[in-house]
Amino acid sequence: MNAAGSSFDWNRGFALDFALTDGLSQTAVSTKRRLSQMRGMYSDDAAFEALVEREDPLVYEFYELGAPERAGDLAFGTSITYPGRVGREYFMTKGHFHTILDTAEVYYCLSGRGVMLMENPEGDVVWIPLEPGKVAYVPRRYAHRSVNTGDTPFVTFFVFRADAGHDYGTIEKKGCRKLVVEQDGAPRMIDNPKWK
Ligand code: MN
Repeated sequence: MNAAGSSFDWNRGFALDFALTDGLSQTAVSTKRRLSQMRGMYSDDAAFEALVEREDPLVYEFYELGAPERAGDLAFGTSITYPGRVGREYFMTKGHFHTILDTAEVYYCLSGRGVMLMENPEGDVVWIPLEPGKVAYVPRRYAHRSVNTGDTPFVTFFVFRADAGHDYGTIEKKGCRKLVVEQDGAPRMIDNPKWK
């Protein structure tokens, strides 16, 4: 949640300028994740520690508007995953299930290039490539993680049921079943050796 929520009228509607880098950021607070906040989530621990030591880069951030967490509301905002790699593995978000597992989400790609990596509790893994103009539908019951496979910021607009909630802990503990790595200049999905 952030303090900007009170500046929007969630009961009578509102419009806002949705320029990602100025309009939205003037009215919303971003949540930032540096690499050091993702310890254990990348496969190459040595490359991870070296990069944290060197610059601890900003891996991703997201802007949200503080929607009230009511079943009939829609929360929306933008997510920015920055370009970079830890060893061969592309920068990515932590990824999460929704606490209310039966809630879906839409991600529309505004700029950059990436992948929405998804998996359900039964182990089905789905990979959706995104580029500007493409939209991903993340179905009910699927954990989802944004992966930047390009060399510019990967920016998406997202919207989901406002009371869905976020379960980050499951992915933090177990990992995702698959990793997205660079191989011969192209992204590839491989098994995650750390998956529990
Ligand atoms: Mn979500």
